[in-house]
Amino acid sequence: MTTQDTLPAGKVWLVGAGPGDPELLTLKAARLIARADALVYDHLVGDGIMDLARPDARRIYAGKEASKHTMPQGDINQLLVDLAREGLSVVRLKGGDPFIFGRGGEELETLVGSGIPFEVVPGVTAAAGCGAYSGFPLTHRDHAQSVTFVTGHLKDGTVNLDWPALARPKHTVVFYMGIGAAEEICRQMINHGLPSMTPAAVVRNGTQKDQQTVLGTLGTLPHRIAESGIKPPALIVVGSVVGLHEKLSWFEGKA
Ligand code: SAH
Repeated sequence: MTTQDTLPAGKVWLVGAGPGDPELLTLKAARLIARADALVYDHLVGDGIMDLARPDARRIYAGKEASKHTMPQGDINQLLVDLAREGLSVVRLKGGDPFIFGRGGEELETLVGSGIPFEVVPGVTAAAGCGAYSGFPLTHRDHAQSVTFVTGHLKDGTVNLDWPALARPKHTVVFYMGIGAAEEICRQMINHGLPSMTPAAVVRNGTQKDQQTVLGTLGTLPHRIAESGIKPPALIVVGSVVGLHEKLSWFEGKA
């Protein structure tokens, strides 16, 4: 990005908007949002972020709530090409990081195919944001030497994951889009060898004012989810790091 005031025409920036708190935007993201001629944004772009856009900027909502895809992916890909061909500077704004369960790669492939120049700006992914704001370090020398980000939502509604690889000790697993499959996830993690007492949590609207964390274990989480009525967008964190919440939580209920 240059320091000049206007952005080059006919170009697309695929920008991560982070998990919600506008202060978690990168400086680069904030500057691009403030200068773009057109912004194409998703459902998960946090409140307050679109307010940074120019008053005269064109704003296009591309949707994407679970199972309520407002605009088909092919149309979004084509829209980016069309806006760039109109000679606009285009910010394609996605929640979290655009390359983590964001279909950012698919959008870029269309741009490449059409010869449209682009850049990618990473963002704070939901797992990092929820871990930080819920007090779960995703790795910790005493608890987890590795972390896996996985999607709990498959196109056909099944959850067909590599369970033996996920259900390992000293490991943290973050399930994006997993809340609807929580029961299956917890059952499989136990069936593949993790103790049912393994700490597990759901975090909804992480980093936002109304962030909600529901704590349990692999044995109790599905019941805790039903009891609390917690809804997407939320992710599930499994592993003993979740037990650190009690000591390290600093945000929820305190903001
Ligand atoms: N590209 C995004 C993920 C998109 S997939 C990223 O890097 O974060 C959408 C899923 O992300 C949601 O279903 C939910 O599981 C998770 N998610 C996104 N924002 C979240 C938030 N603020 N709190 C909790 N989960 C969130």
